[in-house]
Amino acid sequence: MNQNHSEEELMEAVREQEEINQAIAMSLQEDQSQLISGPDNISDKLKQAHHERMQRKGLQTPASEDRSQGLQVQNDVFNSVDIESQHNGIENIASNPLQEIRELRREVQEGNDRIEQIQRKRQCDLYMNIGAIVIVLLHGNQDCGIPIQSWLLFYFGIQFAQLGSAHILDKMEDIPYFNTRRGLKKCSKIAMMVVIEGSQCIWIIYGNMIFNDSNQCFEKLPILSYCMLALLIIGYFQLVLYGIIVAILLCLFIGQCQKNQRKQIGSVKILRSLAKTKYNYQLFSDAEECAICWNNYSEQEEIVKLKCNEKHLYHSSCIESWIKAGNNSCPMCREPINKEVTI
Ligand SMILES: [Zn+2]
Ligand SMILES: [Zn+2]
Repeated sequence: MNQNHSEEELMEAVREQEEINQAIAMSLQEDQSQLISGPDNISDKLKQAHHERMQRKGLQTPASEDRSQGLQVQNDVFNSVDIESQHNGIENIASNPLQEIRELRREVQEGNDRIEQIQRKRQCDLYMNIGAIVIVLLHGNQDCGIPIQSWLLFYFGIQFAQLGSAHILDKMEDIPYFNTRRGLKKCSKIAMMVVIEGSQCIWIIYGNMIFNDSNQCFEKLPILSYCMLALLIIGYFQLVLYGIIVAILLCLFIGQCQKNQRKQIGSVKILRSLAKTKYNYQLFSDAEECAICWNNYSEQEEIVKLKCNEKHLYHSSCIESWIKAGNNSCPMCREPINKEVTI
């Protein structure tokens, strides 16, 4: 599961680098003399690439209007180019974009290295699976009391499915339909992962049930028996890890449910303790409007007067909604509405 997650992150990083690479390629087409005489063009392209990168990360680069108002980000390299150019002349502008290009080239190279690393690992896994299946098939159809060969073949079949799903997910990146629907892409990834990892867990449990070290398999099929034993041991660790993750998620879920339940019970207690009355202009002349909805009170309208201050009145329905939302404090002064209840 962690492997899939890290691969996904790596692929995202690589896609970013490819886009940056395109910006560099466009910039490099500019003549060197143009770089010195009119660097605004290349600087703008790099700014654009940087801006897009920041947007993807959920950050905002300051707009030019904001800069004029003094809202500058000190660490923004591109903005610093503009500021320095006013003091140090045009040479600084020419050198900084070149430095940026070198930096971006290095990032692209790192991205390409990561892709190669992933591809090498997948190839290695593929060859190992093929080799393992060949070894199992070479043993023929020998019976030792448990279906050890069938178990191993199905296990390696699941491994193939895992590699195949990673390949399918890569191909999905090239389909525009999926690129515009990030939610669908994410759901497909999760569904594939759950199906494959779930099948593997079930198969490990089944293997554990049928495997018996006192039978004659270790004598008749020693290589396959030790192979199955090793895979079961690895599988146990995997199951324990998944068990811990599920237990943590379950604890968090139960904790959240209990918290919500406590809130609900507390809200009911607070609602029961509210002192409701009818609005009367002579009695409440200092408070004419509800601080929650900002509407004026009508004569004989049902209101609630809190204990914190006799001027802190609210419409009955307004303060009830406020309490049901999980609050136990006066909206105006933040004093507890009911000091005996904690929610
Ligand atoms: Zn109100
Ligand atoms: Zn109050």
